[in-house]
Amino acid sequence: MFLRKDTKAVQVGPLTIGGGAPVVIQSMTNTATADVSATLEQINELAAAGCELVRVAVPDETAADALPEIVAQSPLPVVADIHFNHRLALAALHAGVAKLRINPGNIGGEKRLAQVVDLAGEKRVPIRIGVNAGSLEKRLLAKYGKATPEAMVESALDHIGLVEKLGFTDVVVSLKASSVPLTVAAYRLLAKEVNYPLHIGVTEAGSQFGGTVFSAVGIGALLLDGLGDTLRVSLTAPPAKEIPVAKEILTACELRRFGPRIVSCPTCGRCQIGLMELAKEVEERIAHIKEPLTLAVMGCAVNGPGEAREADLGIAGGKNQGLIFREGKIIRKVPQEQLLDEFMTYLHDFLAGRQKG
Ligand code: SF4
Repeated sequence: MFLRKDTKAVQVGPLTIGGGAPVVIQSMTNTATADVSATLEQINELAAAGCELVRVAVPDETAADALPEIVAQSPLPVVADIHFNHRLALAALHAGVAKLRINPGNIGGEKRLAQVVDLAGEKRVPIRIGVNAGSLEKRLLAKYGKATPEAMVESALDHIGLVEKLGFTDVVVSLKASSVPLTVAAYRLLAKEVNYPLHIGVTEAGSQFGGTVFSAVGIGALLLDGLGDTLRVSLTAPPAKEIPVAKEILTACELRRFGPRIVSCPTCGRCQIGLMELAKEVEERIAHIKEPLTLAVMGCAVNGPGEAREADLGIAGGKNQGLIFREGKIIRKVPQEQLLDEFMTYLHDFLAGRQKG
């Protein structure tokens, strides 16, 4: 459908980011990193939700001191997020983090940056350079008047240049802004300049609902351009809430599958069945299934099977009854009260057949 940009592959612990690898889902803890048990509890929640890489803020030495234990016990590779202090970056590398997020231009000068980069190279730990529209260098704000895509890209290229000068190229880049058009334009521009893997996301996207929509639009636009090798959905909500959104965005862009997808209609005046309830019940009953199935739950037989031709199995409502269909063809007519159970029986048969075949 669309070509993904051919980026450099970077190894982050057991994960590959870039080079055509599946887009990695990441998030960030919001506990005090120094509180090891609370941070690990949140990391475990993220892992259970399907997060693949976790970032922790390392604002001071007490947070850095907690890293060895967090790294040792975390089920996910850990990224240390550090600003201004090269000692914290060195401590994080010694603690065994899988990736560093720093901005090379603000880590304390060339000598200190060289120490960080040398140790990162020795430990084969990549660095994410993260430009944020809200904290652009004064020089660039003066040059461009405000945070523009060009200003953000120039900032990123400056930071990248600093580590490249030291021979370091295990780089991932992000260019985040809270404005979706600015974010998307900046990444599009950067992608013309570099082939480093891109960490994409809309920063400070907002509440669970608003942030979900903003993230879906921004991240979705980039993914459909073939850009993005790892993503974070940022929500003002518990971090684990970000993961289903990330999964749904990747599913919508047809880049990854995380279990069944339900195609369901909005209903209209033709619907003579409690479709909303039915769709909810199907969703609950298949929550444990990991197979990448497409199921359709449609309000009527006029358009139901046809609209869901791509579905493996589906239901189309009728008057006090429903039709069960498979790959677009009606296979059974069932009274409404037995519809859900019958559908689940067909679904289990279908899955068993798939496993055999
Ligand atoms: Fe209306 Fe039938 Fe289409 Fe649902 S499938 S929206 S009930 S026409």
